Amino acid sequence: MAIWNLGSINADMVYTMPHLPVAGETLAASGLDQFLGGKGANMSVAAARAGSVVHHIGAVGPEGDWAVARLMEYGVDTRSIATLDLPTGHAIIAVDQAGENQIILYPGANRAISEDQIGQALSTANAGDILVLQNETNMQAEAAKMARDLGLRVAYAAAPFDAQAVRQVLPYLDLLFLNQVEAEQLQQVTGQSADALGVTDVIVTLGAQGARHYSASSGQALDVAALPVTPVDTTGAGDTFTGYVLSALDRGLPMPQAMSLAARAAALMVTRHGTADVIPDLKEVQSARF
Ligand code: ATP
Repeated sequence: MAIWNLGSINADMVYTMPHLPVAGETLAASGLDQFLGGKGANMSVAAARAGSVVHHIGAVGPEGDWAVARLMEYGVDTRSIATLDLPTGHAIIAVDQAGENQIILYPGANRAISEDQIGQALSTANAGDILVLQNETNMQAEAAKMARDLGLRVAYAAAPFDAQAVRQVLPYLDLLFLNQVEAEQLQQVTGQSADALGVTDVIVTLGAQGARHYSASSGQALDVAALPVTPVDTTGAGDTFTGYVLSALDRGLPMPQAMSLAARAAALMVTRHGTADVIPDLKEVQSARF
């Protein structure tokens, strides 16, 4: 089986600042680091590191070759990533001495993916494969419908939260991932709790409180505890959790095992700085001691 990910690819440009700039201020940064980021890229890397065949469907600009090369280096199939005549998506992240940040996100090529491109990619998918979506691209509902028609399972992380996008994809979903804030936002929008939406499997991540899985078929909820670690940077923990759950399901593992592997991988992530570049592989996740 395989995972298809219609997902964002970003350059995360992290500027070290003496303080966060205020309106009208010009301020020199003392350092710059460039990382591979974007929820889509993070999930692709997590699922590939967890042992799945992952095909990323996305887009970069002409200067985004390095991001594609890095995805490839991490084991992701990049043949369905288009190079468009637009800037690569990027996040300009200012971080001050206290670790506070300010982020400008420019979607660029991530929001210019064509339906044709998705159709071409999915034409080689097999029934039973998984398509995963988030909200940093365009074409989510079109891709979800196409995948359903082809017999794929459709998974969706409703992040960053977008009420209209959620409404459009809900009818096609088999699996829904939410963090606690997104679960509350969804409840406000739909008037229903996440487990009452008719989606077969709903997973709500709860930060240091772990995660909860609601199964529509059994009507049961399953809790997985977070592992005891000292957090240094939680960025990418949610994406790593999602990628690991999907990979485990793709490899035929039952949900409780998928959730517990994902909790271990996410716990390792919160102990390190960075996102896609530091996602642990399956061996490391299995052998980690907490
Ligand atoms: P992010 O946007 O920062 O990537 P998120 O808000 O999508 O994260 P969270 O619910 O914060 O997702 O975290 C995802 C998972 O990561 C949790 O379910 C848990 O397994 C793990 N995790 C997060 N914070 C901690 C922590 N402090 N200690 C241990 N595990 C954690």
